[in-house]
Amino acid sequence: MSDSSFDLVVIGGGPGGYVAAIRAAQLGLSVAIVEKRPTLGGTCLNVGCIPSKALLTASHHYHTAAHGLGAFGVKVAGVELDLPAMMAHKDKVVADNTKGIDFLLKKNKITRILGAGSLAGNGQVTVTAPDGAVSTVAARAIVLATGSEVTPLPGLTIDEEVFVSSTGALALPQVPKRLVVIGGGVIGLELGTVWSRLGSEVTVVEYLDRILPFHDLEVSKTMTRLLGQQGMSFKLATKVVAGERKGAGAVLTLEPAAGGAAETLEADIVLVAIGRRPYVEGLGLETAGVDLTKRGFVKIDGSFRTSVPGIYAIGDVVGGAMLAHKAEEEGVALAEILAGQHGHVNYEAIPSVVYTWPEVASVGRTEEQLKEAGIAYSVGKFPFLANGRARSMNDTDGFVKILADAATDQVLGAHIIGPNAGDLIAEIVLAIEFGAAAEDIARTCHAHPTLSETVKEAALAANGRAIHV
Ligand SMILES: Cc1cc2nc3c(=O)[nH]c(=O)nc-3n(C[C@H](O)[C@H](O)[C@H](O)COP(=O)(O)OP(=O)(O)OC[C@H]3O[C@@H](n4cnc5c(N)ncnc54)[C@H](O)[C@@H]3O)c2cc1C
Repeated sequence: MSDSSFDLVVIGGGPGGYVAAIRAAQLGLSVAIVEKRPTLGGTCLNVGCIPSKALLTASHHYHTAAHGLGAFGVKVAGVELDLPAMMAHKDKVVADNTKGIDFLLKKNKITRILGAGSLAGNGQVTVTAPDGAVSTVAARAIVLATGSEVTPLPGLTIDEEVFVSSTGALALPQVPKRLVVIGGGVIGLELGTVWSRLGSEVTVVEYLDRILPFHDLEVSKTMTRLLGQQGMSFKLATKVVAGERKGAGAVLTLEPAAGGAAETLEADIVLVAIGRRPYVEGLGLETAGVDLTKRGFVKIDGSFRTSVPGIYAIGDVVGGAMLAHKAEEEGVALAEILAGQHGHVNYEAIPSVVYTWPEVASVGRTEEQLKEAGIAYSVGKFPFLANGRARSMNDTDGFVKILADAATDQVLGAHIIGPNAGDLIAEIVLAIEFGAAAEDIARTCHAHPTLSETVKEAALAANGRAIHV
């Protein structure tokens, strides 16, 4: 017998889970959310997007105050780092955000259940509270939104002291002299940037021959150069084959990815950032008969249905772009489907942002993907160097690149490196969502002088008629 019953029970209170719960409640369903962490918001709010952006912003301010204000005629003397205060800022931002989700759940009359959820068959979920008490809830539909966890590197034990995951790297008690980041993806570069700005010598070791391997190749190459100019070192096409603690730090053994002579690299802190894997521990998937993909993600169809009727899954646990806003879109679409509507996610229009400085933002196809698919395309590119606002900000690195179908001019992808790229991409995401042509963006009036004019000019350039370059 269940202790209570709902239309919908969501397991996992991250961006996928809490957004699905809120949308379902808006549509009149009775909803409970089971979350084992004491705070809501999942990886994103607790140990992901939000704390990393708090530290990226704070370290950017520190670095600008120490090195970047003289050119504006602002003299600053005696800039000092107060790391505990910086961490307190991050912790407050996290606490405020997670409390905000509590408020939203209450506002939408969603029942919050603290504990670890596990599938118990016949539309039931067993919840084990932190004190060991077990209860059961029943639901017409169950949503798995349990997210992901750090992928470990075989042979290295993450102790969160010397060998740290992203979670440890968000809370280091002091600035390491030498930080080695294993993995040149988004998380490694963002956290490497934080500590580099605060004074660490950062070396990124990447197995592939490029950083940001899922991005447009031109973006990868340009970011390698720009981050290199900021002091970051890269060991590309290199694998870490062993690592152990040495004194207060660590020593890693590296080899060329293609094989060859080994070398050693010493570090005070080693950040393992080689990716994230689905988190399904303790969910009882096997007993319930929920199928997984070969890579261990929960297998779903186009409507988020798992192999078991009445059980659905969204977010990182189903794979695809492991991003908070992708999880949120899936949460909304699923809630709408469960309420009898036609929820849908356009996976061609999911932006991805790297919050380094300059920022990187992309949406849609890369040049390499278009070539591989045999799609003829035009390229419209515009440099920030030719934008008045970027010049006034002394932020002239980077470009906007728009890829449009050569025959129809429909926007197929966009890749931006530049100041506030993460905000600038929104306009192009909207264009893709609306099936717009580059000319539609080009003919839209953009305020002057703004960074957004680079988007207009890149769209003009796709048809060979940029004005300011
Ligand atoms: C350092 C870092 C920075 C990131 N930065 C960004 C960014 O800038 N932008 C972006 O879009 N994405 C970013 N991400 C990725 C983003 O955090 C994830 O894509 C997002 O959190 C996925 O949401 P989710 O709801 O699927 O899962 P999660 O946020 O992982 O939430 C899952 C929740 O389920 C709970 N849970 C798991 N199992 C159970 C169970 N059995 N019972 C009860 N509860 C359970 C977990 O405790 C967790 O709270 C970042 C990630 C990291 C690690």
